[in-house]
Amino acid sequence: MRSFASDNNAGICPEALQALLAANAGHAPGYGDDEWTRRVSDRLRALFETDCDVYFVFNGTAANSLALASLCQSYHSVICHELAHVETDECGGPEFFSNGSKLLTVRGADGKLAPEAVLEVIARRSDIHYPKPRVVTLTQATEVGTVYRPAEIAAVAELARARGLRVHMDGARFCNAVASLGVAPAEITWRAGVDVLCFGGTKMGLPVGEAVVFFDRRLSEDFAWRCKQAGQLASKMRFLSAPWLGLLEGDAWLRHARHANAMARRLAQGLAAIPGARLLFPVEANGVFVDLPQAVQDGLRQRGWRFYTFIAAGGARLMCSWDTTPESVDALIADVKELAG
Ligand SMILES: *Cc1c(COP(=O)(O)O)cnc(C)c1O
Repeated sequence: MRSFASDNNAGICPEALQALLAANAGHAPGYGDDEWTRRVSDRLRALFETDCDVYFVFNGTAANSLALASLCQSYHSVICHELAHVETDECGGPEFFSNGSKLLTVRGADGKLAPEAVLEVIARRSDIHYPKPRVVTLTQATEVGTVYRPAEIAAVAELARARGLRVHMDGARFCNAVASLGVAPAEITWRAGVDVLCFGGTKMGLPVGEAVVFFDRRLSEDFAWRCKQAGQLASKMRFLSAPWLGLLEGDAWLRHARHANAMARRLAQGLAAIPGARLLFPVEANGVFVDLPQAVQDGLRQRGWRFYTFIAAGGARLMCSWDTTPESVDALIADVKELAG
């Protein structure tokens, strides 16, 4: 396998596939009124150790856009990192679904928002001519493969809350972040001040789907209608929800995330030893960003390796997934070494 293009290029993990097949058992109520959806929602409440509200949508763009829209009026603004997926890769979805809430971008080292930078945006203007800051959104793990520590999240969230802002987390790679930090999911979400989490399943091995988890249940009032209007209410909901059962059962999600992270570390270590290859960010999750000479990039592509170079901060982005093998990592390292030499 020569693909390091994206963790969503991987197939369905066996646990999720089994659970999907098991849910194909005759007739069941539609639109989420089925036992699989109830069970997964309960499992997620147990995982997060709190009585949260859970919704399932088809993809991360919808999860983020609809979650942010539920936190904003059209005259509000959302503070995000300049490399945030909501800013760079959602085609204006958050602005569209919120009827015009503006994204205010902030710079920050290693793909992270720092409290001072967030405060600067909040304090910049409070007059009626400026879109009123209402939400801060953090991406965990970040778009550049780093991970916020619990205290870093808490610092941003505390500041936001003190100013009357809500906190949203884009958790497309939340599993990788939890595996990397070795903490309970609650520690980097509601206990740190996060109000809503978009919990990514697709990149961790589901066929399709993300969960939107509201820790403050007052914020999810009418969210079901928002999903339906946006075309995100699955009629055969059980096939969206059931695969989560496979992922959650026996902590398969954590096992897969640890594996993907370990493959990224292995890759990073191998590349770091090659003259001419320069790691661009600390490797804390399942992505490696590396600066490679153009000739090496071209050579790799000629040999069939697949990866992107336009994402986030530039460089080659090499993503590991639940099914990345040590052999493929070592073969890639060997090819880089040969081409660079
Ligand atoms: C992949 C990804 C998403 C979700 O993207 P979709 O293609 O809409 O599912 C959201 N945020 C981040 C950081 C991502 O990497």
